[in-house]
Amino acid sequence: MLDPAAWRDVPQEVSTGSLPGWDRVEEIVRNAHSRYRGERGGTVADYIPVLAEVDPELFGLAVIEVGGGLHDAGDALHPFSIQSISKMFVYALAIQEHGHERVREIVGVNNTGLAFNSVMAVELNDGHPMNPMVNAGAIATTALMPGATAVEQWERVREGLSAFAGRPLSLDGVVYASEAQTNDRNRALGRLLRSYGRLSGDPDEVVDVYTRQCALSVTAHDLAVMGATLADGGVNPVTGERVVSEEVCRDTLAVVASTGLYERSGDWLFEIGLPAKSGVAGGIVAVAPGKGAVAGFSPRLDEAGNSIRSQMAIGYLSRVLGLNLFASAPARREASATAPSPAPQEQS
Ligand code: GLN
Repeated sequence: MLDPAAWRDVPQEVSTGSLPGWDRVEEIVRNAHSRYRGERGGTVADYIPVLAEVDPELFGLAVIEVGGGLHDAGDALHPFSIQSISKMFVYALAIQEHGHERVREIVGVNNTGLAFNSVMAVELNDGHPMNPMVNAGAIATTALMPGATAVEQWERVREGLSAFAGRPLSLDGVVYASEAQTNDRNRALGRLLRSYGRLSGDPDEVVDVYTRQCALSVTAHDLAVMGATLADGGVNPVTGERVVSEEVCRDTLAVVASTGLYERSGDWLFEIGLPAKSGVAGGIVAVAPGKGAVAGFSPRLDEAGNSIRSQMAIGYLSRVLGLNLFASAPARREASATAPSPAPQEQS
């Protein structure tokens, strides 16, 4: 494991660009929505019975700028359950509470390369969850929430995610009941972690808090505000409230960059170049540090459980808004003039 002592005394400099003006962003968000409105690929999640009943045509987009600019298109205010996207924000709250090193030790920071509900991933790693953005790691993370009882832990999660969203979030009772009746697999994961001594407390109670956190009701607009808080050094750009520290944002986004779209996280980072988290109800939020966040909602998913239309629209927005973290251009014009030209093609 890398020893962070190597650079602990080195200050963290921040390099950020800026978004185009408000009008231009507004136009780009509308274009993104109309461009992918007709996309029908993928299927809605059905392993949580009530999710199978959702209207698959719903499609919302939202962009929130760190300066407070808001942009919504389509069904950006339609409520749906946050599902796995909660993992990113509960993880941030856990680091805020326990610190970078302790959470890294307990939950890990690496992609398992396996499906989000994989039992094998736990078995292959001696019960260490490895990845806080899949179910086992997220259950272990939820167990770290402060509180003497499961009820207190759940309140802490709900309050924390509400602070990220800038409004009180509530439980979707129908989604919670549907998932609570069918989540044998998550209960199995909780007990498996416990059998390895990786989970303190009653595993069924921890899984119940986790199931509730997944059933919190949000909109694409909420997700973009939540993501923009992580893009804004931990201060909610709409309410002005500090939710977590700058270091917590950095740590959370670094983990999410390589894990946020499950076993497809590499494809995502390669194509879109932003840390992002998806959930099986069809939401995705991508975070552009120092600039803002982009959220999509569309229920049809790929095989890994990621909304297809949200991926397409966020990919478009990442390009047009210049958000890809890996994209650069020469700093000085002369640099491009003197750049070596590509090797000539061989004549055949
Ligand atoms: N609540 C869901 C589960 O635990 C979340 C999974 C997801 O969004 N990928 O299975």
